[in-house]
Amino acid sequence: MENLTDLLVAELKDIYSAEKQIVKALPKMVKGAASEELKAALSEHLEATKGQVTRLEEVFAHLEQKPKAKHCKGMEGLLAEGAEILEEEEAGVLRDLEMIGAAQRVEHYEVAAYGTARAIAEHLELAEVVDLLTQTFDEEEDADHKLTAVAEKLYGQVGGSEMEEEEEATAKPPARAPSTKKAMAAGSRR
Ligand code: FE
Ligand code: ZN
Ligand code: FE
Repeated sequence: MENLTDLLVAELKDIYSAEKQIVKALPKMVKGAASEELKAALSEHLEATKGQVTRLEEVFAHLEQKPKAKHCKGMEGLLAEGAEILEEEEAGVLRDLEMIGAAQRVEHYEVAAYGTARAIAEHLELAEVVDLLTQTFDEEEDADHKLTAVAEKLYGQVGGSEMEEEEEATAKPPARAPSTKKAMAAGSRR
């Protein structure tokens, strides 16, 4: 590397690899999702991701570079964690929630990567590149927010912690206490 353009191209090669790995991995996650909401969110993002690969090819073209991927180890690791969840856990709401956690790690990685690439492109005053990278950056953030919304729906479908359940079980008997106290208070006022 000799200049900022080289650095930008290096960043793009990493992201290009990351996006391609995501396109391969997402169908398994769509299949493994138990809830319709998660299935929909993931398959919607699969389609968006395919568009992001094409968009990156446009970015390479603007830079007069052939689209080339350099294997992204970070994404490989994040996707391996997602695959592990599918292997180790039974299908269901809790597994869906764990998958959402894994998927959001992926989105955050991408937000960071596109943010960096865009900052370099801004500095180089590559307006079209900035515009293309911003479109994807926004889609990644949007995917992250949608996953948060799905998780919030799913929390209500599973039991809470054991501690909470214990609290609920012991919450009934002392319920009489306030009325006794009230009676005592009333008595002392007389
Ligand atoms: Fe992406
Ligand atoms: Zn990477
Ligand atoms: Fe993404």
